[in-house]
Amino acid sequence: MPEFQAILFDFDGVLLDSEPVHCACWAEELAGLGVTLTWDFYSRHCIGIDDREMLRMMASQSDPPRDWRDLWALYPAKKERFRARMIAQPAFDPALNGLLARLAGRYRLAVVSSSSTAEVEPLLTAGGLRTYFDTLVGGEQVQHHKPAPDPYLLAAGRLGVTRALVLEDSPAGIASGRAAGFEVLAVERPADVPALLRERLGD
Ligand SMILES: [Mg+2]
Repeated sequence: MPEFQAILFDFDGVLLDSEPVHCACWAEELAGLGVTLTWDFYSRHCIGIDDREMLRMMASQSDPPRDWRDLWALYPAKKERFRARMIAQPAFDPALNGLLARLAGRYRLAVVSSSSTAEVEPLLTAGGLRTYFDTLVGGEQVQHHKPAPDPYLLAAGRLGVTRALVLEDSPAGIASGRAAGFEVLAVERPADVPALLRERLGD
């Protein structure tokens, strides 16, 4: 019996080096309200968590404190800004296509993201990678986000698997995969993913 039945990939920071682009798009929108978002703050506190949680934190730390819903109102504009920028230039690692093609013949594959499916799916399609994944779990599909186990449990349930390997880059995502009962490979950069999988799967 193979050790794993499925491989479950986080999206931002694992399949795609998108976090700097998410940060830049939020920073550009928030600047209009006089709210400053730096990469230093974003990279330390905002990666892997739901956008609403990030904005609640920023609103409460603002001087004077703001109503987080004023910040959340910028979400559609930020989403469109991100989509346009990424569709123009989807920054997937060139090795990903061959890697996923090989894995798709042996494992069920899924993407499990805190971003919405509407953000993730068009980028996978634009990058020619959508076809390799049996299912996508987006942030809008679960009630409890990472670090809760819900997103990974939903993916495993849809695939009908009990033994999965998770790839995650953020503390919240790693905690989510572990809480779901799965082994988690911690990813530092998307470019590391092929070597990490080769090493763990022994091929
Ligand atoms: Mg991530």
